[in-house]
Amino acid sequence: MSIAGNLTYIRQQIPNHVKLVCVSKFHPDEAINEAYGAGERVFGESKVQEMTGKYERLPKDIEWHFIGHLQTNKVKYIVPYVDLIHGVDSEKLVAEIDKQAAKIGRKVNCLLQVHIATEETKFGFDEPELIDFCERGRIERYPNIQICGLMGMATFTNDKDLVRSEFNQLKSIFEKLKSTYFTQNPSFKELSMGMSDDFPIAIACGSTMVRIGSSIFGNRVY
Ligand SMILES: *Cc1c(COP(=O)(O)O)cnc(C)c1O
Repeated sequence: MSIAGNLTYIRQQIPNHVKLVCVSKFHPDEAINEAYGAGERVFGESKVQEMTGKYERLPKDIEWHFIGHLQTNKVKYIVPYVDLIHGVDSEKLVAEIDKQAAKIGRKVNCLLQVHIATEETKFGFDEPELIDFCERGRIERYPNIQICGLMGMATFTNDKDLVRSEFNQLKSIFEKLKSTYFTQNPSFKELSMGMSDDFPIAIACGSTMVRIGSSIFGNRVY
């Protein structure tokens, strides 16, 4: 199947209210151009250097989403152009993004990453940390960050019930935060969950943004 063919197939499974982020990490510019030609404008990358190179070379109406683990020393390279940072997983990172955004007079859109999987290796806040961070007054310390919602990754497993319960857990944390700490903040509305193998479950559980790579571009060569 071609990239355009894969996209047609994927789009049929995604309702209009859910945004598709085409995860182009480890794929060359030509692959992005092909998806761009098929109408896609939102691409997700997980390495700062790779994303910045692609940003410089590719059409300027592309929305770049950073979906990887972001190191604080690299924040400054993406803050000028990034549209959404999905994986904000610590207050230290929040503080650095805020600082770099302030320097250039920009407000940067971020999602807080929540640890929902059973694997230890996945990054993110757990629920008590998140609530602690969201307690009144904490978020206002970072006026150059717009918190647009939450992001999470389910356990890598064939156990659909486990995946569904993790996505339901994330959805319920999202609703709780929205109705407790973000009632005055209409920007808090995105729930980024779902990848190639689990996006239909994620959508059924309330995802508003799916991050799909291999089902569009094929397997990655690392
Ligand atoms: C690589 C990656 C994806 C895309 O994964 P696929 O299984 O190829 O769809 C989505 N989200 C994150 C955070 C990733 O790192």
